[in-house]
Amino acid sequence: MGLKVGIARDERFLEHKTGHFHPEHPNRLEAIYRMLDRHFMDRYFTDRLISIPSEPATLEQMERIHSPAYIKRILKTADHRITSLAPDTPISADSYKSAWLAAGACIKGVDSLMSGICDAFFALVRPPGHHAEPTRASGFCLFNNIAIAAKYALDRYDLGRILVIDWDIHHGNGIHDIFYDSPEVLYFSTHDPLLFPYTGSMEETGGENALGYTVNVPIFREMTDDDMIYLYREILQPLINGYQPRLIMVAAGFDAHSDDPIGRSRLTAAAYAGITRLLMTLRHPAGDPPLFFALEGGYHQRALTDSVQAVLIELIDGPTPMPEITPSDAVLNLVDRVRSIHAPYGIFHD
Ligand SMILES: [Zn+2]
Repeated sequence: MGLKVGIARDERFLEHKTGHFHPEHPNRLEAIYRMLDRHFMDRYFTDRLISIPSEPATLEQMERIHSPAYIKRILKTADHRITSLAPDTPISADSYKSAWLAAGACIKGVDSLMSGICDAFFALVRPPGHHAEPTRASGFCLFNNIAIAAKYALDRYDLGRILVIDWDIHHGNGIHDIFYDSPEVLYFSTHDPLLFPYTGSMEETGGENALGYTVNVPIFREMTDDDMIYLYREILQPLINGYQPRLIMVAAGFDAHSDDPIGRSRLTAAAYAGITRLLMTLRHPAGDPPLFFALEGGYHQRALTDSVQAVLIELIDGPTPMPEITPSDAVLNLVDRVRSIHAPYGIFHD
């Protein structure tokens, strides 16, 4: 059965300007919004998508993750037409507003899921967040949208256990570090270890208070859609059974798509639909926790819109039947390695 799906969409996310040639350009989100409009015109999304208005986060919510000095530094950028927060992270005078609103949109998404307005929520926001650290912007990210929303969900709703899945091709070092020593967030990331930020080794499994609660899976560039779906099924099924998350959050970057100019991988939109389909069914043993998605990377307009559309349609109509998949020997070996590294911690329950 399909889900009630909420989205955050706001023109103010386009006010964050990065320069004509920067890959994290407003036209990424404009293309997604045009796709939504096309579907609204042909009435496919009418009555199926619930628009959740975005509001800026409060200072207190931001300070649960980011230091006051860092937040102050970001606010000061309003005085300058252009600021370079990091070599790859240029921002404009209004960027701080977009970033602040992106974090707030994610918090509103958590509220809309917890109040039952929707069962799944997709924050179609920018700038992205998963590389942002408590005191540092990095990799096109200013504030860590998912970390801020996860912390809010833990504090406000006393959830105790949140599973964060990061399928962006880059390792979400910000989320990883922030929750590395916390069993309240189980972070599972698949990423290309040869790409920025070059972190996320499989042997990093969590701090001493949270051993086993970080599951890093460096993937290889030849991974097919079938490989990816197999890997997610074999890892998420025992992980969800063992951890019993009360909320599932996805750092949804689409730069592992074969057309992406940065990702250099081989997936198609069908892989993202397939993983979404898995999430809709694998969550049953945990009592169907709500599903939260926040946009991270994805730098080819067509690939990005096709992938977001595939996820939304799966959530609205799905889960559609899972086709037969044929995993490669390489992915079988990879899954075996992950499971043997994590065997001592007992988080995986078949
Ligand atoms: Zn990325």
